[in-house]
Amino acid sequence: MADKKLKPEEMANIDYRPPQKDWMDAEVEFRRGSYCYSAPLKNQEMLQLPNPRQWNPQDADWKLPPDWKQIILDGMKDRLDKYRSWRLFLDICVRCGACADKCHYFIGSGDPKNMPVLRAELIRSVYRRYFTAGGKIFGRLAGARPLDEKIIKEWYYYFYQCSECRRCSVFCPYGIDTCEITMLGRELLNLVGCSTEWVVTPASNSFRTGNHLGIPPHAFKQSLEFAQDEVFGITGIKVDVPINKKGAEILFVTPSADYFAQPHWFTLLGYLMLFHEIGLDYTFSTFASEGGNFGLFHSADLAKSLNAKIYEEAKRLKVKWVLGGECGHMWRVLHQYMDTFNGPASFLEQPVSPVTGTKFDNAKSTKMVHICEFTADLIYNGKLKLDPARNDRWKVTFHDSCNPARSMGLFEEPRYIIKNTCNHFYEMPENTIRERTFCCGSGAGLGPDENMEMRLRGGFPRANAVRYVREKHGVNLLACICAIDKASFPPLLEYWVPGVETAGVHELLGNALVMQGEKERETDLRGEPLAGEEENGGKQASV
Ligand code: SF4
Ligand code: SF4
Repeated sequence: MADKKLKPEEMANIDYRPPQKDWMDAEVEFRRGSYCYSAPLKNQEMLQLPNPRQWNPQDADWKLPPDWKQIILDGMKDRLDKYRSWRLFLDICVRCGACADKCHYFIGSGDPKNMPVLRAELIRSVYRRYFTAGGKIFGRLAGARPLDEKIIKEWYYYFYQCSECRRCSVFCPYGIDTCEITMLGRELLNLVGCSTEWVVTPASNSFRTGNHLGIPPHAFKQSLEFAQDEVFGITGIKVDVPINKKGAEILFVTPSADYFAQPHWFTLLGYLMLFHEIGLDYTFSTFASEGGNFGLFHSADLAKSLNAKIYEEAKRLKVKWVLGGECGHMWRVLHQYMDTFNGPASFLEQPVSPVTGTKFDNAKSTKMVHICEFTADLIYNGKLKLDPARNDRWKVTFHDSCNPARSMGLFEEPRYIIKNTCNHFYEMPENTIRERTFCCGSGAGLGPDENMEMRLRGGFPRANAVRYVREKHGVNLLACICAIDKASFPPLLEYWVPGVETAGVHELLGNALVMQGEKERETDLRGEPLAGEEENGGKQASV
């Protein structure tokens, strides 16, 4: 991280003055701390990506294939024919500027090419030059520019400074989704072999061992058994952890970080406790041991094949439907792409809660239910005994993770769970939550440590809102429902708002859940002394 020594007050001193050079002429400087490393050769080969080679973004020569320009232009043509939305987004921007100051990377860096309108212009200018009459005739006057290697480098730099969060689209009067422009920009880069390590390696691991982290099946099993022991230590109850159980009613899929990283781990403990308490007939899978889908940050083809793994496994295990854990982009794939990728999953049944009988109509086609929908329904129907006082050491705020918020509208369910499991909950300012939420700064494959300065800059607006509730209400915990959030917030908050920790919503549920036959709890799921219990030994959740 180049600017490791930059103090927060120095990092926050952002220069918003426009640069001297015309944006069309500016060249990219690959500054350490603000770009992602290239994919290693062995993983490019594993995924059979085009133009596999060892290369480095800081090299002058990127070893592009000899016909790289034709590959890119053919790739653009294919996609313009295939995706009407893309052509529309490239055609209709009126450069009104409503999106300009809405991107967290622009707010945190002051770099105009991080304004959504200008980010899109990086590719729109090439589109104009080769695919519009005005651009062909008037060239630069019409905002068109010829494709050269500098532009390929610029795309790599700025399409990996977009976390595909879609915040800008909320403010665009035409609904232009710059995220979609970025996604297709990355696809074009991939055609000539320019992809990043932090996207390609997890994706290749998913094909090799079943999950992003490359955890083999036996280690996955051991980890779940270790979680089982931890739950026993805290509650005195031995929960079941079924794996690859054929004929189970439900396949449970969650990000691999949940069973290997912290603070994700405590969310996993919460799931296991919940499933035991309601007697859920479910199974984990070693083949589908990953809910996340880093293919989404690479190309539609890769996202589609990773998504297919979950459904192949659901078919093999003969389950009725799929329950998904706290993840961000898994839900974007499910809600926006699953049906055209691999759906509808007609071989599965429409999900029905075995405890409350609630039919999840929203999952009629995908047959997959979000754990927050499932748990909120249990609480709403009075099926869980909860003691919110056990979370009294926390003053909690909630971060709407971009994908569940903007791609599926999951605003109320996590809040409902938090309000029933915690006594102290405070919202961040209105313009930073729900559909207007700010990204953590590390989504869509931007989370490697070598990109730390950009992550800290991109996370600055979110951290600023956390600081507000920290100073106003003494908030010391940020709850969220995304594995990338859980990984990116600890260093981000430590930098900008020390004293605020990060947790999954189901960790809070696990703390509050009063289980039948449990011993008197002395610690919370983190092993910290329990805050205290209500005198009545827990309260029945109410609407
Ligand atoms: S808000 Fe929409 S129309 Fe306006 S500049 Fe941004 S992308 Fe273009
Ligand atoms: S999708 Fe998010 S990261 Fe990308 S330009 Fe829009 S606001 Fe910025």
